[in-house]
Amino acid sequence: CGIVGYSGKTGSLNVLLEGLHKLEYRGYDSAGVALSYPDGIRVAKAQGRLSALEEKLAGMHLPDSGCGIGHTRWATHGAPSDVNSHPHSAARVSLVHNGIIENYAELREYLVRKGYEFCSETDSEVLVKLMDHNYQGDPLDAMRRTLAQVRGSYGLAILFRDRPGVIYGARKDSPLIVGCGEGENFLASDIPALLRHTRTYIALEEGDMVELKPDGIRLFDRLGQPVERPRMEAQWEM
Ligand code: GLU
Repeated sequence: CGIVGYSGKTGSLNVLLEGLHKLEYRGYDSAGVALSYPDGIRVAKAQGRLSALEEKLAGMHLPDSGCGIGHTRWATHGAPSDVNSHPHSAARVSLVHNGIIENYAELREYLVRKGYEFCSETDSEVLVKLMDHNYQGDPLDAMRRTLAQVRGSYGLAILFRDRPGVIYGARKDSPLIVGCGEGENFLASDIPALLRHTRTYIALEEGDMVELKPDGIRLFDRLGQPVERPRMEAQWEM
């Protein structure tokens, strides 16, 4: 339902929670975040209001991180629950997903045969397991191959364990925009999540993929070819 991502220097958790609050108007049944650290990824997620997630986070005392992704879920496959909340994870990847993966049942069977164990009932978990399965050290290559195997709609924010500080994104039939800052960049499913930080944004086009670092934004088409997209200025007030 709602996606937020932040790649900067410090304080990602505040940016993510504040962005998720700005997207609350869309409605949701659960929420979660994944923070990127040099030694791995830490995830917190909870069914219910953002306050339930915030309570859980208060008990976790996570160290500060300059990079992370967040999600508010509107369940389509699998009941609202802590386990079905996003982010979903595999050994080397965590991600949040807006949309519906239509061929998730076949993909899940394929991945179970490959030895993957599933913890949720969501269609989204096949994306993260498939991404992990296809990952050979190049995130964009893993994304390109994974998304070619998938039927359905997606807005995605992805963290790879061995790429600390970097966010990857992709979209098809679900909106995703990049917010352009100074020494920090943002990802979101909708403009209100960004307005407090920047008005300059790039709307990803169908099939686009993106790599976000604090000081760089690289865009690619669905075949992995570098592309340029126009920068726009949000005119409206929030
Ligand atoms: N289909 C996914 C799920 O049910 C994502 C739902 C959403 O867009 O929030 O978990």
